[in-house]
Amino acid sequence: MTTPPQPQDRASLDQDQFLKILSREEAVRRFDDAVFPRALPAEMRKLTDALGCALAEDVTARIDVPPFDRSNVDGFAVRSADLAPAGEAAPVRLALNGEVIACGTAPTLQVASGTATPIATGGPVPRGADAIVMVEHTQPAGAQGVEVRRAVSPGQFVSYAGSDIARGEALLRAGTVIGSREIGMLAACGIAEVKVARKPRVAVISTGDELVQPGEALPPAAIYDTNGAIVAAAIDENGGVATFLGAIPDDEAKLEAAMRAALADADMLVLSGGTSKGAGDLSHRIIGRLGKPGIIAHGVALKPGKPLCLAVCDGKPVVILPGFPTSAMFTFHDMIVPVLRKMAGLPPRADAKVNAKVPVRIASELGRTEFVMVSLVESRDGLIAYPSGKGSGAITSFAQADGFLRIDALADQMPSGTEAEVTLFTPHVRVPDLVIIGSHCTGLDLVTAPLARAGLAVRSIAVGSLGGLAAARRGECDLAPIHLFDDKTETYNTPWLAEGLELVPGWRRMQGIVFRKGDERFEGLGAKEAVAAALADPACIMVNRNQGAGTRILIDRLLGGARPEGYWNQPRSHNAVAAAVAQRRADWGMTIAPVAHTTGLGFIPLAEEHYDFALVTARKQRPAVQAFLEALASDDRRAALERAGFRPA
Ligand code: AMP
Ligand code: MG
Repeated sequence: MTTPPQPQDRASLDQDQFLKILSREEAVRRFDDAVFPRALPAEMRKLTDALGCALAEDVTARIDVPPFDRSNVDGFAVRSADLAPAGEAAPVRLALNGEVIACGTAPTLQVASGTATPIATGGPVPRGADAIVMVEHTQPAGAQGVEVRRAVSPGQFVSYAGSDIARGEALLRAGTVIGSREIGMLAACGIAEVKVARKPRVAVISTGDELVQPGEALPPAAIYDTNGAIVAAAIDENGGVATFLGAIPDDEAKLEAAMRAALADADMLVLSGGTSKGAGDLSHRIIGRLGKPGIIAHGVALKPGKPLCLAVCDGKPVVILPGFPTSAMFTFHDMIVPVLRKMAGLPPRADAKVNAKVPVRIASELGRTEFVMVSLVESRDGLIAYPSGKGSGAITSFAQADGFLRIDALADQMPSGTEAEVTLFTPHVRVPDLVIIGSHCTGLDLVTAPLARAGLAVRSIAVGSLGGLAAARRGECDLAPIHLFDDKTETYNTPWLAEGLELVPGWRRMQGIVFRKGDERFEGLGAKEAVAAALADPACIMVNRNQGAGTRILIDRLLGGARPEGYWNQPRSHNAVAAAVAQRRADWGMTIAPVAHTTGLGFIPLAEEHYDFALVTARKQRPAVQAFLEALASDDRRAALERAGFRPA
């Protein structure tokens, strides 16, 4: 039997608890227990402002709808008994009463036996009448009469008072989310204001010395604050009202002042960044001073999102999201949205899910619940979920993905071929018309632009040339863009094709040396001389490319076995090479001409690389593929490629 903790152990026990990584489920449970139950404050809202709010109480109809017996058609109010003998061969003549009941006109005359009153759709049925005859089923009979050739049953074309909504009926239940249909029902009952759960006010603070707001100039080493905008929007999407308080530098006093000011007004505070347990990370240390009980969980076995910090300060949830935007979003949606919606009186979000097969093995960290963003494409045998290739810092992976899948904490991988459940970001998943998987190039967007304008959904997934070829062989895409050099034949692409694939020539990209304009070491030289000059200067630093890149093959040939400083800096994209040179982290590297030009760098051309397409022959006749081939061959797109620095094949 263990002894209960003694009071003097209390502080160290709490400390340990914060340092411990909790499972996702345990963290969710503890956070929920600390926030709920709680009273849901309510407020009156005008119907026009109530969209998306949750009703705080049942709404009872105070009138009947319709409020009176109402005609459903244009015609004549009659007594059905008068028309019992009517038939094709036996017309019955009714005398017209001296009024016409238009919409909004209260009748004044009784419909006596043998008479009829003209009535419009929506008009109140007059006293004495019990049915309506459609005007189409009558004929004029003199100035003051009408002839009817068919019998009517009592109640024909009459909507009785209260038949739609009955006075005293529970119209809408507490908790119902008000949409346009609910607003319509409330308006029909004459209700102008409703009591709704007050939307939680959520303060949002970004933290970090490196953050600047969109719209401002970007100084060296700074980045734009992404989390502020994305978290505020996600709060509004989930029933809260976000107030963004800006990015606060990593300064304990400033941050504490901002957090205190935020909590004075808001029901909840969401911060991002600075959640690691390192010395520079402040927010979680401040939380302990802001109210009880303080930190509930710091460190959750999630990927992305491990450093998430959950706290409650005097009844108000305080959350510190991880700094990386995708980590921030996953943890926000997975762990914070349920609490926020509950505080807003909203039901849990109903996420749409689909099953899809995973085409490649996905490695996963044992012990952490892992979320992997995926793009969906259709193949011969159902949906395929492509994992996004970018890391947890990549914001575009969110925009390009259709949803995400979850890998259990106890699994160290998801094997290729697994049938996985994909949670969709939006309920309407649209399988793309054209799927391009392979190497990415900015020229691609120029060619697909007219397809997008014509309403075709184009999905391009960047997995590199070899990954694209594999996808094409499995029939998962229409086209695989590739730029693979074959050493034996000294040709591009064709030797790499497999059965069932054919080559569609794309364009040529000039590869060359980039340097900062005005750098005397390179100005005016050819590529080989430029590299020789670089090798001759020990202060000159290069930037390389990753193993397997076509560009890398060219660089290695030029270097001929030399390993100058910078050789091991091996970024994976043309743009990263240009950025390294432009920002003076390196003095030279190799990239393609369009990238050199948009970055404003000097460029020494070396060799043209062939960027072509492996087309899956079986999919050639698909309309979107035909549209792509047409665009590729069009004068207009060829000119656009040329303007961007490519040379169409
Ligand atoms: P931190 O936890 O503060 O060390 O942040 C981790 C990473 O996320 C760093 O690369 C930060 O620059 C980045 N980051 C933090 N906050 C934001 C933000 N609001 N917008 C974009 N990136 C951020
Ligand atoms: Mg930071």
